[in-house]
Amino acid sequence: MAGAGRASTRPARGWQKAQVGHFVGGDWAPAGSGRWYPNRSPWSGEVLGEIAAGDGEDAHRAIEAAHAAFGGWAGEAPWRRQQIFLRAADLLEGRRAEILDALAVETGCGRHFGSVQVDFALKLLRQAATLAYRPAGELLPSDVEGTQAMAVRRPVGVVGAIAPWNASLALGGRAVIGPLALGNTVVLKPSEESPYTGGALWAELLQEAGLPSGALNVVTHAPGEAGGIGDAMLTSPLVKRINFTGSTPTGRRLAEKAGRHLKRVVLQLSGQNPLIVARDAEVGYAVDAAAYGAFIHQGQVCMCARRVYVERPLAEEFAERFAAKVAALPTGDPGDPATVVGPVINEWALALLDRRVNEAVELGARVLAGGVPRPPCYPATVLTDVPDEAEIAHGETFGPVVVLEAVDSAEEAVARANRSDLGLAASIITGDSRRGLRLAAKLDVGIVHVNDQPVNDEPHMPFGGVKDSGWGRFGLGFAAEEFCELQWVTVRDQDRTFPF
Ligand code: ADP
Repeated sequence: MAGAGRASTRPARGWQKAQVGHFVGGDWAPAGSGRWYPNRSPWSGEVLGEIAAGDGEDAHRAIEAAHAAFGGWAGEAPWRRQQIFLRAADLLEGRRAEILDALAVETGCGRHFGSVQVDFALKLLRQAATLAYRPAGELLPSDVEGTQAMAVRRPVGVVGAIAPWNASLALGGRAVIGPLALGNTVVLKPSEESPYTGGALWAELLQEAGLPSGALNVVTHAPGEAGGIGDAMLTSPLVKRINFTGSTPTGRRLAEKAGRHLKRVVLQLSGQNPLIVARDAEVGYAVDAAAYGAFIHQGQVCMCARRVYVERPLAEEFAERFAAKVAALPTGDPGDPATVVGPVINEWALALLDRRVNEAVELGARVLAGGVPRPPCYPATVLTDVPDEAEIAHGETFGPVVVLEAVDSAEEAVARANRSDLGLAASIITGDSRRGLRLAAKLDVGIVHVNDQPVNDEPHMPFGGVKDSGWGRFGLGFAAEEFCELQWVTVRDQDRTFPF
């Protein structure tokens, strides 16, 4: 697979290579234990390469390398940092076709969502290049005569970044680029499902672009062995912040442990995102938006629409047209540009989808489209009449299944949506955008789109959720809040008079 492994076998870069090692202190290296694990394609089952099966000790080495690099990177001139991000963007752009292939084979990501990720990553890098020139603080008025006061932003030091597989390139990039651009150094732990596109690839790009050794380090691990690396990040006093994108149960465990160490974490967690169709919506548009929002990347995006509420006058027509559209979505090989629904990430994900759909049906739900697995794919599926006690009605089910519900009013939909413990994204489709904004204000979520579906992201936007969907915001415009310390500095231009 990718450009890493034993020094003698290390190719320059690329995903079709035998081994992917850790990237620590600017060098590719096997795990300290010497263990590797096979990285399998979710579509073909083929082994794409061997990945270093790292542990806590590897993580500590990476943390030390990041710590050692911090002073130098934090002190780099802005033009140098800017140049590195711009160069990395050009390198990424030049490798677009190969990266789309890598995303397809490693994560089952189709052409459309692959392009969405590449475009996001390009903008992320180019916008990050401007962060180097952002003001580093403010001068503050002081009531103490002769005192000049400042609030100075300083990078925090080493940032631990834990990223998921589902949008591996975009979310791996989001986890590291903002923190780096602000002068921090980073240890990235990609998911075991996307060690190359979510980890090693970023190391390749940034190293080639000239990022100093140790500023970014990547540590991978075998399935089920994330804990050792996560614990190293949590317990090491050298790691000052952690950002985590993943599921609510894992994020909660991490936050509990982080609390013990008084370590700040940015958490971007699960969603159970509603899409509300008001009675004055244009049905064709609403159907297209709902199909896109529910089934992009086979429903494996945290922002995907999981519940579609339709105001009753439109409900029947919407259900009919939506089910017909969904049933016809091309399903299969993610490498085929015509495919909309590719494979789900692994057999456990497939089994979970099957179990939750069957449970809902046993409890009285009706299947309007899909509902029968086609391994390694699960077809786009629409359920209705899903009782509240069915798991799929309340817990995030990460895949191509959406629950459709008729409501008497959009206000009722908002109330039902707000009963969820999760609060990531939502969308409202209505002919009256002012009503849309009024409804948006009542939704307990971090992100609302009026007259769109919920899957949207841009690198500078305040991305994140409320309630059990997490806390903190990604987004380069807001990254300084999360990945810098604010230091209050004063300087006196004359001696003070002290009372004693
Ligand atoms: P998903 O269902 O998206 O895989 P997870 O929350 O399981 O969601 O995974 C998101 C990220 O969290 C992945 O990088 C995964 O390896 C990592 N992870 C899982 N368990 C732990 C843990 N105990 N400590 C740190 N990271 C973990």
